Amino acid sequence: MATAVTPKVYKNYINGEWVDGSGAAAIEDRNPANRDELIGMFPSSTEADVNRAVDAAKEAYKKWRLTPAPKRAEILYRAAEILVARKEDYAREMTREMGKVLAETRGDVQEAIDMTYLMAGEGRRLYGQTTPSELPDKFAMSVRAPIGVAGLVTPWNFPMAIPSWKIAPALVCGNTVVLKPAEDTPFSSYNYVQVLAEAGLPAGVVNVVNGDGPGAGAPLVKHRDVGLVSFTGSTEVGRIISETCAPTFKKCHLEMGGKNIIIVMDDANLDLAVDGAIWGGFGTTGQRCTAASRIAVHKKVYAEFTGKLIERAKALRVGDGLDPKTDMGPSINEQQLQTVIKYVEIGKNEGAKLVAGGHRLDSGVHARGWFHEPTIFIDVNPRMRIAQEEIFGPVISTIPFSTLDEAIEIANGVVYGLSSSIYTRNVNTAYRAQRDLETGIVYVNAPTIGAETHLPFGGIKNTGNGHRESGPAALDFYTEWKSLYIDYSDKLQRAQIDNAE
Ligand code: NAD
Repeated sequence: MATAVTPKVYKNYINGEWVDGSGAAAIEDRNPANRDELIGMFPSSTEADVNRAVDAAKEAYKKWRLTPAPKRAEILYRAAEILVARKEDYAREMTREMGKVLAETRGDVQEAIDMTYLMAGEGRRLYGQTTPSELPDKFAMSVRAPIGVAGLVTPWNFPMAIPSWKIAPALVCGNTVVLKPAEDTPFSSYNYVQVLAEAGLPAGVVNVVNGDGPGAGAPLVKHRDVGLVSFTGSTEVGRIISETCAPTFKKCHLEMGGKNIIIVMDDANLDLAVDGAIWGGFGTTGQRCTAASRIAVHKKVYAEFTGKLIERAKALRVGDGLDPKTDMGPSINEQQLQTVIKYVEIGKNEGAKLVAGGHRLDSGVHARGWFHEPTIFIDVNPRMRIAQEEIFGPVISTIPFSTLDEAIEIANGVVYGLSSSIYTRNVNTAYRAQRDLETGIVYVNAPTIGAETHLPFGGIKNTGNGHRESGPAALDFYTEWKSLYIDYSDKLQRAQIDNAE
């Protein structure tokens, strides 16, 4: 007789303790490759839980902001060391939780490691400027000051990396944190925060409130004691968050959707470009904000390139990301899969030519997961919806063009501006494209994905609101500049007046 297995029940993390949520409901964390596998139950929190977490963070801020930054950084360094030791376990758990193949979940944990080490290093930098005063016997400098409680809201596609991009810089700068992780992937955020706790973070410095967007995310964003909000997710939700923050001028950082492009010139190494298109388009099942969902190809090499691309896409093996033979995992959930199916229909109705994939996979080994074939449309008009709107699935649209100017016009003709790429062996073409492509990230001879943690990450237009994640640029979001003047002349000195002659 089969015995019922009680799923593991996880809690919120508030003021240094794992505590129950106050909501009656619970969130099921299921494996998207096999929905029968329940990873655990997480609290569906309410405003009351958010308030407790913000209160704890506000109280902890009083001491944390005064803890020397190199000391704050030592805790981050220890956390990074623990992550290194647990990388393989956390990667496996992440593949079970969100489906991407093991090589990619290892990369996700590695990104959290890199970011945590990087911000540990910032603890002994956090540079300001010293500069001569315009007046005698006066000293001038600028320093970075923490802001207070940071409210962080994250998506499911990089469930450990993205929380780390926000938590690590927030902490090293002296802020305290309340995180609301994505409801589809709470376990990977749990693992990251567990590591921070083990590394010695004082109670209340980081708090986690699980739950859905309206129930837990919205009260966090609007809470009057939350001084800054960092959000990664859809443009639709980002707009709501921006509007919530606007009336009180709350500092607000938004990283949102993308419709990224790879441009393949007629002088490109075509095999390299096909490699890039397959990795950029189908990596993480197309569920990356930087996914290459448009491939614009010069007419002279269009037939050859699309022929190779189609052959490679058809050979991809779709399945459970824990199976070493799998090239591409499932969509995150039924709703996301339905979005993919909807856009395939839209593409067909718009007159694009479906030449690979196009179907849900739901029999045999795929029966219990949310799988879809790698899908390619060719001869896509850049104005079609499949070439304009973010699909967030394994669907590539190829678009022919005749000149670099035309390719750049196609590239820039969308509302998003996150990542772009060009394959060419002509240095002039490469530099012109880097100058003219309207995206926050531009690659040459590499796909649209692959950002490194020490460079600024983010987009323009409907992708972002001017702030950047990663690298020293992140410090500008998590601190305010404070200018300090020390007059040691023992007399009143009036800037712009006493020194005007
Ligand atoms: P989503 O916008 O649905 O959810 C993101 C987070 O916001 C989740 O934690 C969710 O619970 C929360 N949320 C939802 N409604 C809310 C509300 N009213 N108030 C406060 N919080 C709310 O996005 P998703 O489906 O989790 O992620 C996919 C999207 O994220 C895609 O559009 C993708 O491009 C984008 N993304 C962007 C980047 C980037 O850096 N630009 C990185 C990864 C993902």
